[in-house]
Amino acid sequence: MSHPEIPQHLVIFGRPGCGKSSLAERLGSEFGYTLIRTGEMLREAIRRQDFLGKRVEIHLAKGELVPDPLIFELLELNLKSPGTAHLLFDGFPRTMGQVPLLEQFEKRLDFRIDCYLEIEVSRAEAVARMTGRRVCPKCGTTYHLIARPPKVAETCDLDGTPLERRKDDKKEVVEFRQQVYDDNALPILQYYEARYPGLCRKVNGEQPFEAVYSETRRALGVTDGADQGTAKR
Ligand SMILES: [Zn+2]
Repeated sequence: MSHPEIPQHLVIFGRPGCGKSSLAERLGSEFGYTLIRTGEMLREAIRRQDFLGKRVEIHLAKGELVPDPLIFELLELNLKSPGTAHLLFDGFPRTMGQVPLLEQFEKRLDFRIDCYLEIEVSRAEAVARMTGRRVCPKCGTTYHLIARPPKVAETCDLDGTPLERRKDDKKEVVEFRQQVYDDNALPILQYYEARYPGLCRKVNGEQPFEAVYSETRRALGVTDGADQGTAKR
């Protein structure tokens, strides 16, 4: 990593729809973090339809949290190979019960989280964003009715397939997931703020993506002066 001054092991928080996945991807490609994304791992397990995947699917389809022991199994599977030099956790820990699981991984794999980053977006804004998301069931390309609309309504630009909502983007599921976030993530953030106030950072997520990214880089202490986020515009 060419930026030794910035956090090496980071957890990113934010309610569903806050845009943290795109931020995590961008941070990963700019700074070389290995992304540890439980959401992706869960969807992949479902695609495989193995024993773990089938158990996971039942919970996700209802918008419920996947129970901690299943998350632990999943991380065990995925944390072995990538090495632990620069990790970015996206979607974990998601419950207070997972906080000690992360501490266990820190001890066992010998790394320390040195930044807890929260992307702040209001619940109403998050709901509006999520109910506009569409995905192509054939090629997996994602769209958004407002932020990234397809050229022809409800149709994939690449292969003409009718777009779908992800199962967990239905209105009532979206509202339920927001409630689940409020109930579970807020206590985690309070816990880390009380315990490691110097490691917690907040970024305003209710801005255009490039502005959120720039603010995130500043929050991480990137000192190269050039504001790459907005320079590209
Ligand atoms: Zn497609």
